[in-house]
Amino acid sequence: MSLKKYTFWLLVGSQDLYGEDVLRQVNDHAKIIVDGLNEDPSIPGTVVFKPVVRNQREIYDAIAAANADDGCAGVMTWMHTFSPSKMWIPGLSILKKPYLHLNTQFNRDIPWGEIDMDFMNLNQSAHGDREHGYIGARMRLNRKVIAGHWTDGQFRHDMAVWMRAAVGAAVSKKVRVLRLGDNMRNVAVTEGDKVDAAIRLGWRVDYYGVGDYIEYVEKVTEGEIDNMMARYGELYDIDTADIDAVRYQAREQVALEKFMQEGEFTALTTNFEDLQQLKQLPGLACQDVMRQGYGFGGEGDWKTAAMTNIMKQMADGLEGGTAFMEDYTYHLEPGNQMILGAHMLEVCPSLAKGRAKIQVHELGIGDRQPPARLVFDTPAGKGIVVSLIDMGDRFRMIVNDIECVDQPFEMPKLPVASVLWKPLPDLRTSAQAWIYAGGAHHSVLSYALTAEHMRDLAEILDMEYIHIGKETDLEQLRKELVWNDFVWKNK
Ligand code: MN
Repeated sequence: MSLKKYTFWLLVGSQDLYGEDVLRQVNDHAKIIVDGLNEDPSIPGTVVFKPVVRNQREIYDAIAAANADDGCAGVMTWMHTFSPSKMWIPGLSILKKPYLHLNTQFNRDIPWGEIDMDFMNLNQSAHGDREHGYIGARMRLNRKVIAGHWTDGQFRHDMAVWMRAAVGAAVSKKVRVLRLGDNMRNVAVTEGDKVDAAIRLGWRVDYYGVGDYIEYVEKVTEGEIDNMMARYGELYDIDTADIDAVRYQAREQVALEKFMQEGEFTALTTNFEDLQQLKQLPGLACQDVMRQGYGFGGEGDWKTAAMTNIMKQMADGLEGGTAFMEDYTYHLEPGNQMILGAHMLEVCPSLAKGRAKIQVHELGIGDRQPPARLVFDTPAGKGIVVSLIDMGDRFRMIVNDIECVDQPFEMPKLPVASVLWKPLPDLRTSAQAWIYAGGAHHSVLSYALTAEHMRDLAEILDMEYIHIGKETDLEQLRKELVWNDFVWKNK
């Protein structure tokens, strides 16, 4: 699994007064835990053992080293024995990595017949981690706390979720969005402060004129198009007689991949209003680029493009796709209310149930040739939709739990891929909550990730987080929005 390249350092705290024998046992126990976690396929990253830290100097040095290590995606702390927390202040003051506090214990059970004061003095996380937790609270550190035995399924689940969020934070620092053209004219929610995004999230969001891209498109050779067509043939059914239209998308994709690889871009946006001499809006081209893990946003939506890229990496190795999405139209039948999500073309084939078909249809908007695109059905199952908006003084992440459902009827005249879902707790409450919170029509839909992943990511990125799920009460949510505004304006 590719997420194994992300390392997570286990810093076990103690102090000098315990003596060599106890500290050797602490190290031995930590190694066993690290090995146990690394053998578990549900733990996505690699846990790295570090020798027990015994004093202020060692704590500071370990955290400085973690900060300086590009491969280190997070720091996990655990107080096997008691580690006075004033010693942690200088180290935690400089901590730049995502922070997970483990409250666990090497032994699962109390050895009733054998327990003595030596055992009590070695196995002290019940109070050592409380001392450690205080300094995290006192210093107002963004962190996650998980508790339980280190072999417990829930404990490992909580750790795995946090690791994926930490991967998201690491990916965020490397996001580079290729903006082909600007945002769609007059649209508000897809806009935002790119300087703030660079400062807070590490994103580079760069504009290029469509002409810069067209230079690449014009240089594509027939041989390169043939190779791309062969790739399409392996992955998809070509369900059209208009091969020229498909070849034009292949040309656009070859150009796009070159442009993105040369500039080390991780996501892109297009805008159907700004195509200049392009004969088709890139459709199939964007879809197949998304399949490879790049982010995408339509109409210049660089925030959703970046989030798609980040969430795809966070979900690596999990079941189910992750894709750019748009709330398109409602089904308001009483008792069976649903949202049909799609986009004019660009739905990622990672969502496909079965093999996607390449078809060519009129776009119905804009004035270019009918573009080739992938059309497919999507599976039923639980998922989330995620929107990132700019509130002017901060970013707000809005997450809604959804239940994707099978299409009840064929839609033979709909020429795009789509997803049908029931938002939780119900469409009426979800839609009102989403709109009160300012959520966009664009989102990232994921079958693989959950609200827990996004909550942890928001915590690490120090971002406002609004969750709409089965417990959502509209009165409470409206108060939360008012309170949040006060809190975040003063943060
Ligand atoms: Mn759109």
